[in-house]
Amino acid sequence: MKIGCHVSIAKGVENAPERAAVLGCEVFQIFTRSPQGGRAPELNEQNITAFKSGMKKYHQAECLVHTPYFINYGSGNGRIFYGSVSVVRQELERASALGAAFVVTHLGSFKYLGQKKGFAQLILGLEKTLKDYQGSAQLLLENSAGAGDIIGDSFEEIAAVVNHPLLKKFKLGVCFDTCHAFASGYDLRTPTAVKKTLAEFDETVGLDKLRSLHLNDSKFPLSGRRDRHEHIGSGHIGKNGFADIINHPKLKNVNGYLETEHDRVEEDIAFLKELRK
Ligand SMILES: [Zn+2]
Ligand SMILES: [Zn+2]
Repeated sequence: MKIGCHVSIAKGVENAPERAAVLGCEVFQIFTRSPQGGRAPELNEQNITAFKSGMKKYHQAECLVHTPYFINYGSGNGRIFYGSVSVVRQELERASALGAAFVVTHLGSFKYLGQKKGFAQLILGLEKTLKDYQGSAQLLLENSAGAGDIIGDSFEEIAAVVNHPLLKKFKLGVCFDTCHAFASGYDLRTPTAVKKTLAEFDETVGLDKLRSLHLNDSKFPLSGRRDRHEHIGSGHIGKNGFADIINHPKLKNVNGYLETEHDRVEEDIAFLKELRK
């Protein structure tokens, strides 16, 4: 498992690989546009080439693109729903242009339409997003922290989407966020707990769908239903859980991305590298 974190694209996406290397990253995550919304900055041949050569120059093995926060496939507002479809598709195209391996997205909430209608709209939305998509970047769905009606807090819910008959041909993957899983009641504190949680994931979603990890400790206890990231080893998952996760034989081929605060993210990266055998 290679280790990295989320980095900023301030002053241009082409600056991200160097910024990642300075923090000690082997892989990194970016937003290619403002996470709050608005138009995406243009990607042209110049910054795409500069980004790609930066990946090589600064020895970055993989880049993960995160979609903006407003994505909501369950929204009752047509503008938000169609905006989600079009922005996730744009991010897939943009990530492919940059040579990024994956685009990770949150799915939204069933708060407005309810579970049944919301789920049908979600499947329709993902179908629209991926229709005739030819790019190289794979779309990953992220498990959520289980607050309210947020979509994707249980492995069953993720499985119902990823393994849906209408979506199977699109080969969706999953980005597993340790903090979100823990907040939703999946224990990760000990080797036994990690084994059990991964077995549950395998039985529902399938471990072959797991393509990346968000490595975040949790400020709140197990099943706390709160999405609050803590520095590695300082939260309720703790050092032992992370040592087991990053050395787990079944997770050898996926990379881990920190989304902890940047005040100590360099230490988090160094600490995880130290825990890695
Ligand atoms: Zn996320
Ligand atoms: Zn989170």
